[in-house]
Amino acid sequence: MAHRHPLRRGARGLSRSRPRSGQPVRSRDRNALDSSLVTPQDPRRPSEPVRTCIGCRKRAAKSELLRVVAGAGTVVPDPGGSAPGRGAHLHPSLACFELAERKRAFGRALRHDAGSGAGALDLAGLREHLTTPVR
Ligand SMILES: [Zn+2]
Repeated sequence: MAHRHPLRRGARGLSRSRPRSGQPVRSRDRNALDSSLVTPQDPRRPSEPVRTCIGCRKRAAKSELLRVVAGAGTVVPDPGGSAPGRGAHLHPSLACFELAERKRAFGRALRHDAGSGAGALDLAGLREHLTTPVR
C-alpha cells in the first residue's frame, strides 16, 4: 500500500465546481468586443479582372476597357472580348487611342513586329470604331 500511483486516479470527483451559496454566477459580457477588429469589406470586388490601358497606362476593370486584337496587320476592336489571338486593352476613348498610337503601344502589346517588313499596324478601323458614337 506504500506505492503511489503514477497517475492520480480518483481526483475527478473532487472538482469543486459548485458555486458557493449566496454568490450568483455571473457570465461575462462578451458583446463588448472591439468592433474595430472587423475588417471592412472592400467595395471594389476583387474578383473583377483588371487590365492596364495601353494608352494612359492606368489600370482599370476589364469591363471598362476595350479589347483589341491584331488580325492580318490590322487592329480590330473586340468589344465582346472573344476574338482569338493576342489582345490588348485600352480605354474606349480617342485620347487613349492616340496616346497608344504615339507610343507605338499597339505593336508592342500585340507582338506585332513592324521592323521585319510586316509594316505598321493599320489602326484606321479602330480609330473609326472609337470616333463612331455607340449605337
Ligand atoms: Zn486609358
